Amino acid sequence: MELKVVAHAAATDTGRRRQANEDAYFVDGPLFAVADGMGGAQAGDVAARIATEALVGVRDSDTGPEQLLERVITEANRRIHDLAERERRYRGMGTTMTVALVQGSEVVVGHVGDSRAYRLRDGELVRLTLDHSLVGEMVRRGAITEADAEVHPQRSIITRALGSEPAVEVDVHTHPARRGDIYLICSDGLTGMITEPEIAAALSREPTLDAAVAQLIARANANGGVDNITIVTFALDGDGGDGAPGDPSAPAAAEVTDGSRDRSGATLTDRPALDPGTRRRMSNRRQRFVLAAILSAIVVAISLAGAVIGGRQVYFIGVDEHGLITLYRGTPYELPVGLKLYQETYVTTTPATALPPAERARLLDHRSRSRRDAESLIKSLEAGELKVVAP
Ligand code: MN
Repeated sequence: MELKVVAHAAATDTGRRRQANEDAYFVDGPLFAVADGMGGAQAGDVAARIATEALVGVRDSDTGPEQLLERVITEANRRIHDLAERERRYRGMGTTMTVALVQGSEVVVGHVGDSRAYRLRDGELVRLTLDHSLVGEMVRRGAITEADAEVHPQRSIITRALGSEPAVEVDVHTHPARRGDIYLICSDGLTGMITEPEIAAALSREPTLDAAVAQLIARANANGGVDNITIVTFALDGDGGDGAPGDPSAPAAAEVTDGSRDRSGATLTDRPALDPGTRRRMSNRRQRFVLAAILSAIVVAISLAGAVIGGRQVYFIGVDEHGLITLYRGTPYELPVGLKLYQETYVTTTPATALPPAERARLLDHRSRSRRDAESLIKSLEAGELKVVAP
C-alpha cells in the first residue's frame, strides 16, 4: 500500500545553556532531516546548514532510495569537508545528519552521528539508528549499560560525523512502514535530557504533532536544556488519510531551518556517483565544541586549583574505553580541544557490567573523592588487586 505523510511538525530550540543554535532541520514532503553541527564560532551552524541544504530539490532517482540517501549524505560530507579545508575559520567543523525518506510503503533512513530516528507503532517506540559515539559503541560491545552511557564523561565524543574526513561511511536502512506509524528525528539535545518513554508518551497522548513537539522541547528545557534541541516528526496513513492526527496539508515548499535563518540557496546539481572504493570506516574522536563544557571547565579548573593549593588531589571513579572500572585523577570534564582534566591512574580488571546496579551507581557517580576514599573503594571492590597504568 502506498503510504502518505498526513501530518508533520518540526521545531528547533537553542536550549537554556547555549548562546547559539547550531542544529538545523529539513522538512519537504516525503523527505525529513535533522543535522547537529559542531565547531567553534558559527562553524557548526555552517556545517549543519550545508547538510540540510544538500537535500533541497532532491527527488527520487533511478538508483533507488537507499542509494539516493547515501549519495546525498556523501555529497554533503564532501562539501563540508572541502569548505573546512579551504577556509581556516571552518577548520574542524562537522555535523551529524539523519534523514528519513518515505517511499511507497517504506521509510528509508540515512544516518551519520548521534542524532536519532525513532518510530512509534502501537504505542511502542523503537530506535531506528545507532549512535556513532564512543559511549554508543561501548554500549553495543556490552562494556557499559545505557544508564552508564548517560553519565559517562566522554559521552559527547562522536565517532562519525560529516565534514571531518574526505569520505564518510553512511548507515542506510529501509524499514517497512504501516498506517498510523509516527516517525521522529531529533538531535541529542532532546535524547540527552528526556527518556524514551517520555518521547513515546508525548507522541501518543498529545492531540497533534505540533503539541507533542512543543511539549518535548519544554520538557528538555525543564530538565536543563544543556544543548540545542531539534525535533522533526511525521505521521503516515494510507490513501484517504482518515483518522490521522494534526494538519493534513503538506508544505508547498521546502523548509530549511537553522538558528541563523541564513540561506545560501545551495542545490544539488552535479552529484558524483558514489565510488564504493572511497568508502572507509572513520574513527574521528573529536570532541564537540561545547560552550557549556568551556564554562564547566572554568569552574572545574578553579576547584582543581583550590584542591591543589589545599595540598590535595581529587580523584573520581569511572569506566575506561574497554568498560573496566577505572580510577581517574582529576575531574570528569574535558576542554573542547580534547584536553582532558583527568588522567587514568588505575585500571581494575572488573567490568562495570559485572557490578550489581546499586553498586555500580554508587561507584560510578563521577563524584570527586580524596585519593584515600577512592582507593579504598577500589580496594574493597578488587581486594587489593590494583594495576598501575600511569605513574
Ligand atoms: Mn547536540
